[in-house]
Parts: sequence; structure tokens; C-alpha cells
Amino acid sequence: MARRMGLQVNEGLRQMAHALFRKGTAMKEAYSQLLGRRWRCDECGREHFVPTRWVMVEENAFAQLLQFVPEDANLFVIADEITWEVAGRKVAQGLRASGRSVRDLVLPVPLSATDAMANFLSERWKTQTQKAIAVGSGTLNDLVKWVASQRGVSYISVPTAASVNGYTSPIAALTVQGIKRTMPCHPPEGVMTEPSVIASAPLAMTAAGYADLMSKTVADLDWQLARWLWDEPYCPLPRRLVAFADEWDLRYLQRIASGDPNAVTNLLMALLLSGIGMTIAGSSAPSSGGEHLLSHWWDMQAERQQRVPALHGLQVGIGTLVALALYDLLLATEPSDWHASPDESRPPSERMGEFAERYGEKAEGVMAEFAAKWLSTERAEAVRQKMAANWDAWRERLQSQLPSVAEHRRRLEAVGAATSPQQLGIPMDELKAAVLHAREIRRRWTILDTAFLVGILPERLDEVLQRCGFQTTPS
Ligand SMILES: [Zn+2]
Ligand SMILES: [Zn+2]
Repeated sequence: MARRMGLQVNEGLRQMAHALFRKGTAMKEAYSQLLGRRWRCDECGREHFVPTRWVMVEENAFAQLLQFVPEDANLFVIADEITWEVAGRKVAQGLRASGRSVRDLVLPVPLSATDAMANFLSERWKTQTQKAIAVGSGTLNDLVKWVASQRGVSYISVPTAASVNGYTSPIAALTVQGIKRTMPCHPPEGVMTEPSVIASAPLAMTAAGYADLMSKTVADLDWQLARWLWDEPYCPLPRRLVAFADEWDLRYLQRIASGDPNAVTNLLMALLLSGIGMTIAGSSAPSSGGEHLLSHWWDMQAERQQRVPALHGLQVGIGTLVALALYDLLLATEPSDWHASPDESRPPSERMGEFAERYGEKAEGVMAEFAAKWLSTERAEAVRQKMAANWDAWRERLQSQLPSVAEHRRRLEAVGAATSPQQLGIPMDELKAAVLHAREIRRRWTILDTAFLVGILPERLDEVLQRCGFQTTPS
């Protein structure tokens, strides 16, 4: 069973870190070094653990599901109206044909990962369920992961699109009382799907998956800055695990865009590694910086206006352009340029009115997040001094890892992802509001906070957006 990766571990992790991921074989090697492993990390000194034990993405994979499911297990297959037709029915029928006890549930579309939907699923979850099988994309996966974790039941993820990196992650993105939260969860015990299934997903979902994957370039920079500024634990492994995707050229991206099963499978394998990177980190930090906050902010706006938001990855792609432009401007500054914005000195307690206007009944929850990282005038000055003392070294490190905005745009374009907020139905005023306010919704420190700390925001907002190549005047 050479395919049952994680069962045979024969080489050191150090070698894995240096493996060339360009070839599929090397990628499988990486998986075999990670899955089901617990080890002390040479890089960061912490212990890492990847509970997910197997990943199987190949034709006829579903026929092999039986080997991962005990004969007497009570199974619960969950899909939505679309993914049931794509793969859910086939998975459930295959299990039933083997004599296993299978219940199924088909959730209505469009599906959203809210506390209300999680409750709906939970109410239909029988106590005797021993294993859940989530057949669907990111939203469905997050709902099942969350409820399964709450109930202490293991689950298998069956992705139906290469659209997000959340399948293998230890968190679920859930909107709780209107606020987007990342809830800690248990990752799936295994991941299984077939190339033809994910290649048949809508092309926009695949494009979104690529955009989500490539946000790691900038999310990792945010994480590094957080380590330097706040001594947060940092490990370079998660970023390195997906670095091979940086080398996909435009022609390869066009293959992804056209739904080529091999290319889309490789994208999914990269996304699964990215999710494992979060498991290694023990948080979403390697995958979710300021660019994700913009997307979460738009999700919140959409919910408030009772409309369906654009795809997560597509929003993240726009957010990544913004974050890259902010880094560009930051790296072009000298400490002598840095200054406090007058508004920053106002303590959160004095901002309740504007928060209430922006977030309605969610204002208090958002305020708690913002207040956790707000800096008084004195503390902000001390942080700027710390940055200034290290600026030459930090700038050099960041510069060497920063892709250009133009390059990122070309990649998004080649894969068929959005390169302007208007393509996603996000008007210019909502784009501007997100850049100025998205940092308020989560306590994590990102480039959005650094930009305020040194005075790039709010002053140079228009310049940021022009750098992204967005049309800032109505046409
Ligand atoms: Zn580490
Ligand atoms: Zn994401």
C-alpha cells in the first residue's frame, strides 16, 4: 500500500524540508514525512503534531474508502445539494453496498458557515455516530469539522473543489453571532477525493483556491513581523511546504484555469499542505494575515446586507494585492518618515459610537478584538523605536521574500481570479472602508496595523489602491 502515505516513514524531516516539490513524487515524499507524525522541530524548537494520517487523491479513490472505515462503524455522510450529486451519493452508496450502517444528510445551498447552520447540523447528528464524512468544499467542511470536534467524533474530509486550504487545518471559520471567528477544531483523520471530482468544480472555485494558496506569501510576512514585534512563536516550515507553488509559471496557471485534472490535483495537494502548515503552527497564522481580514470584513458586510459574499479565495486575492502594496510602501520608508496618525491615540472606549455605526449589534464583540491590540501613544512610540532599531535587517528580510504587486496580478489574471474589487461586486467605498477598518475585527497583528503604526494609513490610502492597479474613480 505505497499510497497509504504516513504509514511508511523512512527519512528525516530535514530532508523533507529540502525536498524538491516540483515533481509529484517529491510532493508525496513530503506528505509521507508529515502525516500522523509528531516531532521536535529543528527550526523553531517546538513540538509539532499532524493528526491527519492519510491523504488519497487519485482516480477510484472512493472504492478504497472501506479500508479506512471499520465494518461495524456508524457512519454519517454529509453533503450539500450540489456535492451530493457530484460525489456524496457515490460515497454513501459504496459504503452501504459493503453492509456498513450509513446515515446521510443533504444540506441546502447556498450554504454558509454560521452558528445557526452548525446548530441545524448538530440537531440532526445522532449520538451513535462514530465517524462523519464531509463531502463538499470549504463551507461544508468547516461545518462538519466544527460539529464533529464538538462531539469528539473523528471525520474524513472529501473535498469536491480545490477552492480553499481549510480541509486539513485545525480551525473552522465560523460566523458566530455575526462575527467571523476561527474556532479551534480537530483536523480530519484523512482526506480523500478523486481528480475528476475536483476538476469538475466550477472554474471560479479553482481560481479562488489558487488565490487563497498564494496569499501565504504575504500572510507569512505578517507572521514574521509578529514574531519580531511581539515575540510570537514562528516556524518557517509552513511557508516552505507550499513554496513549490511559487514556481508554477503562467502557462501552468492557465492549465489550472482550464480545469486540467493533473494541474487541479496538484493545486489541491498544495492547499492540503497549506492546511497542514496551520496544524503545524497550531494556528491560522501562516495562512491568514491582513489579506484575510479584508475578506472576513467583506463577508461580515455581506451578511449584514443579507447577500451572498464572493468566494473566499477571490476576496483574499484582492486582499493580497492590498497587503503587497502596503508592504511595498512600508519598505520604501525610513524610520524618520514614521509618525503616529492623530486618530490612533484615541482609546477604544472613545470609539464605541463609530463601532456601533459600523458593526451594529456586533460592535461590542469587534471592540473586544480591537482593544486587545490597541496601543497607547507611549506604547506605539516604543514599538516604532523597536522597529527602527532593527529596520535595516528586517527590511532586507522582508524585501527578499516580497513578490511584486504586478507579478501577483499577472498570476491572478492567468488563473482566472479577480484582480479588481469591482469584479466581485465590491464597490470602491467598501474597499476603502475594509482597508481602513478590517484590522478592527480580529486581535491578530497584521500589515494593516503596521501601516497605521507608521502613518502610511490612513494618509496614503489612495496611493495604496493605485499601486494595486484598482480603478479608484468611477468610470
Ligand atoms: Zn517548527
Ligand atoms: Zn483562506
